[in-house]
Formats: sequence, C-alpha cells, structure tokens
Amino acid sequence: MIVLLARRLRYSRATGPGKGLNSPAMKDIAIVGGGPAGALCGERLASHGFNVTIFDERLAWEKPCGGGLTHKAIQAYPFLLEGSQPKKIVRTAELISGGGHRARFEMSHPIVIYARKVLNGLLLDRAIAAGCTTVCSRVTSVNTDGAQVHLTAGGEARRSDFIVLAAGARNQLLPETTALSTKDLEVTLGYFVPTEEDILKVKFLKEFEGYMWSFPRADHLSVGICAKMGQSPTHQLRRHLDQFVDEEKIPMLGARFYSHMLPSPQAQTIRNRRIVGRNWAMAGDAAACVDPVTGEGLYYALRSGDLLAQALVDGQPQAYPERLRAAFSNDLELAAQIARKLFRGNFLGGAITTRMVQLLNYSPAFRDLIRDVFSGTQDYRTLKQRLWDQFGITLLEFIRSWFGFRGLPGTTDSVSREQCP
Ligand SMILES: Cc1cc2nc3c(=O)[nH]c(=O)nc-3n(C[C@H](O)[C@H](O)[C@H](O)COP(=O)(O)OP(=O)(O)OC[C@H]3O[C@@H](n4cnc5c(N)ncnc54)[C@H](O)[C@@H]3O)c2cc1C
Repeated sequence: MIVLLARRLRYSRATGPGKGLNSPAMKDIAIVGGGPAGALCGERLASHGFNVTIFDERLAWEKPCGGGLTHKAIQAYPFLLEGSQPKKIVRTAELISGGGHRARFEMSHPIVIYARKVLNGLLLDRAIAAGCTTVCSRVTSVNTDGAQVHLTAGGEARRSDFIVLAAGARNQLLPETTALSTKDLEVTLGYFVPTEEDILKVKFLKEFEGYMWSFPRADHLSVGICAKMGQSPTHQLRRHLDQFVDEEKIPMLGARFYSHMLPSPQAQTIRNRRIVGRNWAMAGDAAACVDPVTGEGLYYALRSGDLLAQALVDGQPQAYPERLRAAFSNDLELAAQIARKLFRGNFLGGAITTRMVQLLNYSPAFRDLIRDVFSGTQDYRTLKQRLWDQFGITLLEFIRSWFGFRGLPGTTDSVSREQCP
C-alpha cells in the first residue's frame, strides 16, 4: 500500500499539474485559440489534470482552409478518420502545369478532407470531454510580466499560471517575441463552392511562388490560390483563380469568397524565432508551424499543440522548441530552403513544376515518389537522396516513354497525359 502511494505520488510529481517550470503550483492554463493547435493542446493538458480554459472569439467556425489531412496526420491521430463526422476521403489527385498539361494519379494513402467547422468542432468536443472550459470571446491583451499571466477576454480580466498562444497566423499577442514578417507569410484567396467532386487538383503557374487548388469536401469544394505576400497584387491572384475555376468548369452558383493569411516561414524564422518564454508558449500557425512548400499546417498545428502539452506535463516547457525541431522543424527548414527553387526554378530547359507533371506521366518511379509526397510520408530530409538514387531510372523511363514504348508497368492510373516536349 505504501509502495503504491509512493509510486502514485512520484507519477503525479513527474506528470501532473504542479510541475511547471516556474511555479511549483502551475495548474491553470489559458489557451488563446480553439483551432487544431489550441484544442488538441487543451485536450492533452486537461487529461493530465490541468485546469484549462480555451478562449476563442468564434469557437468552431469555417476557417478559410483546404481542410486536407495527410496520412501522417491520420497515423498520429487516428480519431480523425474513425469518427462519424462528415469528411471526404480522396484517393485521386491531378497536377496541372502552368502550360495546362495534366497528370492524374492514385495517392499511396488517401487524403482526408474536412470542413473546418466540423474539424474544429470535433477537436473542441474532445477538449471539453477531457475537462477543458471553453469561452467564446476575443482576447485583447496579454501581460506575462508578473508571477501570473494577466489577460483580458471579452472585456473581463482573467489570470492564469501559463498561457498558450494558438491564435493562428493573424496572432497579435506577442509577449517577448516578434510578429511574422511579410516574407514569412502567404496571401490566400478562395471560394467555398456548393458542388461535389472526387478528385483533388493542384495547378501551378509559371514563375509563381504558390499554386491553386480544388479540394473536394463532403458537400462542397474549397477552391483557392496561395502566393508569397507582396509578390502579386490581389486582383491578379483573383484573376488567376477565376480563370482556374473557368478551366475546371466549376459551377459557381452559391459560391462564397474567402481570404486569409497563411504562414510560409523562411528558414531563419523557423530556426531563430522565439516561441516559448517563462510563462507563455506558441503553437500552430502562431509559431509558424507550416510547410512552406505545400502550405500543410493542420498536422503541424496538432503536433505542436501535442508536443507543447507534453512539455508542460513533463514540467519542461523550455524543452518544447527542441522537441519541435526533432519532430519536424528541421525538416520544415529544409522545405523553406527549396520552396523558391521548386516554384521558380528550371530543369532541363523547362519549369521544374512542368517537368514534375511530365515525369509523373512517364516515370512510374517518379510517380511513386510524388504519391508519397502527397501522402505526407516522404520527408524533405530524404527527398533529395531519393531523387538522386532514382535519377537514372526516372530518366530512362521518361526516355523510353518519349520514344513511344507503351505499357510501362504501373502507368495504368495515368488517365490524362500531356504531350511530350
Ligand atoms: C486558405 C488556406 C488553405 C489551407 N489549406 C490547408 C490544407 O488543406 N491542409 C492543411 O494541413 N493546412 C491548410 N492550411 C493551413 C491551416 O489552415 C492552418 O495551418 C491551421 O488552421 C493552423 O491551426 P491553428 O490552430 O494554429 O490556427 P487556426 O486554425 O487559425 O486557429 C486559431 C483560432 O484562434 C482564434 N483567435 C484568433 N485570435 C484570437 C483572439 N485574439 N482571441 C480569441 N480567439 C482568437 C480564431 O478564431 C481561431 O479559431 C490552409 C490555410 C489557409 C489560409
């Protein structure tokens, strides 16, 4: 009995509330933002006995987003696939080059696409079931100078022992850190369109750092364009998007326009920006946890919220950035280094993105690689090596196909081919 009690005490000291970095009695955690990062962080903390209050000015809402979750998100958080909430499971993708060439392929793992209101609702329900309190109000100020954190939410003064800032890309609450600069952000514009589709489409543009997408959801499409902030005027982005909508013959009756910011962090921002302090930390978009090539942010929001909660449970909030680096920040830093080259660079006399579409059609080895990239199972660290390792075979397959050999193994899912150069 005594041994059992001693074990239990040791466990609660090691993992339960009261083992925070600063205060031996850290118990009350305020979270600003009930999106994926804040909601999952709250759920994890509440299930370890912390008193968690999540403040969100809208709670579950239709945040402008594609809503696509890759296989790595599903693997880490299987409840995203298992629940009964409406979602679309998409297995086929199509890439379209700036010149209009197309390549369609089956992904190695499906992408699961949610309406954000549904996804946020699901995550907040789990947080509430774990013991979190949710408050629907806007947090307008945060002061982390004192022994306790002081915040104002909906005009009311509140206090907590620690604050998690998970208020997204537009986060204005910046204790002891800097805002994301224009170079760390992308502009996005899009439409929610009430129509049904089964294929996910991505279109590149010539000399353009960004892309357009059409993501099918349970009862509508999210169609949009993203581009580095400051590089293209909004009216030009809208023109590209409207042309895409026309080309893809998307029926626009009842479509709703949206625009939002998306972090697209530079390598030095990922490496150097401060995301944790004595009694505060950031997660998700607020911490710039987004893939600068693909714009994937949902997995990184969930994972950063999860890792931050674990660091707090362990009483080691200062270990959070290091854990983030080991989990994915190093990889995102590599992505930031290649993003510009990928969208603007040339290979064998043509745009890299165009060559990608061509290789997809003509090289099964390259198609396998892109399938894994789309599933989120191919990291950037090993991508370069894999490209080099299979360079010879990719080229051979491409040349064989170019000279008219047909019936290459594994090409049956390529239903729509462009012409060879
Ligand atoms: C157009 C677009 C398309 C995208 N498509 C995809 C995709 O298909 N797949 C993917 O993985 N990622 C995608 N992303 C990225 C993804 O949306 C984000 O990375 C993700 O939502 C980040 O989650 P978060 O919890 O950090 O922030 P958010 O989801 O932005 O949540 C922040 C929450 O904080 C609340 N809030 C903000 N300020 C305050 C305040 N002062 N007081 C109280 N509450 C506040 C907001 O109401 C919001 O609910 C897309 C982004 C955009 C803009």
